[in-house]
Amino acid sequence: MKKKLIAGNWKMNGGLAANEALLTALRDGLGQPACDVAVAVPAPYLAQVQALAAGTSIAVAAQDVSQHESGAFTGEVSATMLREFGVRYALVGHSERRQYHGETDDVVAAKAQRALAAGVAPIVCVGETLAEREAGETETVVKRQLAAVIHLNGHCISEIVVAYEPVWAIGTGRTATPEQAQLVHAVLRAQLAAASEKADRIPLLYGGSMNAANAAQLLAQPDIDGGLVGGASLKAADFLQIIAAAA
Ligand code: PEP
Repeated sequence: MKKKLIAGNWKMNGGLAANEALLTALRDGLGQPACDVAVAVPAPYLAQVQALAAGTSIAVAAQDVSQHESGAFTGEVSATMLREFGVRYALVGHSERRQYHGETDDVVAAKAQRALAAGVAPIVCVGETLAEREAGETETVVKRQLAAVIHLNGHCISEIVVAYEPVWAIGTGRTATPEQAQLVHAVLRAQLAAASEKADRIPLLYGGSMNAANAAQLLAQPDIDGGLVGGASLKAADFLQIIAAAA
């Protein structure tokens, strides 16, 4: 059975002292986790978290990556720069980036492509808004978002991670039921299977108010290979419980 992946998304939270306390608690409580673990941290803290996570099974992730290689793109961070800091994963197309920064499917695909080229695995986020769900458009929306990254030039689709994050469940305390999440994951898995013989290897994460109480049920679904965890990843005890639920 493939290992699950639990990735925390700290969003724009943290500070030098808080990060050290969180990483220390995670390190102490982690032991030998049965799943892969990552934390996506704000860019200024990548070096600090890389140092704190050294020698542990915690991988470092970025929350975004530039679609450009280098040059006059003030404020952006390239995939090559991330790689230099030992970054293993980068979130791309998180709904907050799509919503507040106008990221289109094409931009998300370009970012995924840059990440792969630099040896950073993109965690491609897809998910419908509440209005789209209520209009019966969930499947169409997530398939369109996934289709944008399925045929990246020269890269094997099996190198990506996909996170299904219904927008209405992110940071709202309203989680998709395990059945609702599984239905969408099965759609995504079928779409990946049509594009690659290695679709089974691609981790399909669920994200959206995953917490210590609901993680086990979500992670028990056949096509849910892990979680992308926002709020609950900021509390060591909660994050450790979610990791334990992924055994
Ligand atoms: C996220 O930010 O990707 C997320 C899933 O957040 P939360 O767990 O807080 O809903």
